[in-house]
Amino acid sequence: MAAITEALDLGQLDRSLAQRVSPGRWEKILSCIQCGTCSASCPAAHAMDISPRQMWRMVQLGMTEEVLRSKSIWLCSLCYTCHVRCPRGIPLTETIVRLKELAMERGIVSSPQSEAFYRAFAEVMRRYGRLREVEFMARYFLASNPLAALGFARLGLTMLARGKIRPELPRLGGEGRLDRLFARVAELEEKR
Ligand code: SF4
Ligand code: SF4
Repeated sequence: MAAITEALDLGQLDRSLAQRVSPGRWEKILSCIQCGTCSASCPAAHAMDISPRQMWRMVQLGMTEEVLRSKSIWLCSLCYTCHVRCPRGIPLTETIVRLKELAMERGIVSSPQSEAFYRAFAEVMRRYGRLREVEFMARYFLASNPLAALGFARLGLTMLARGKIRPELPRLGGEGRLDRLFARVAELEEKR
């Protein structure tokens, strides 16, 4: 791992991962100067196992397995802060989306809780066209760690009592409206 903290020798460059996750703009990724602006700007960096700056060096080095197995790609909330601040104009956030997709394509689930969160969120959105908190949380805990739900039971009851969440929302007319969108995404993913 020393190479990710040292100056990069051109002979160490491995374009394969950059080309895979950023076709057409992979040269931008190779232009990273390791300034650290992305790490300093990232609101999730404190919880990541590799910092954004390290991640981009590892992509430059073609360290596919290490990057795809990191928790960092799943902790990224796609806030675009690093993306807009990178002095080299590297499309960071979009590339992280591709890294997540590549990890899922290869069946690498380094953060089962994050995967359960994404799937529960997407399913509730697909069904209702908006978030229904109670169903979302129930799906998430059932898929990730049902016992963990007990730890949140008191908080959930308090929120229910104060009307912060509702067990049933009035019908908003969004049911099924996103079906076509989700079907189209599934179609595009199959063609990859
Ligand atoms: S902000 Fe851009 S140039 Fe600086 S370390 Fe991050 S990716 Fe590299
Ligand atoms: S887009 Fe992701 S990696 Fe970049 S600053 Fe936001 S959370 Fe951090």
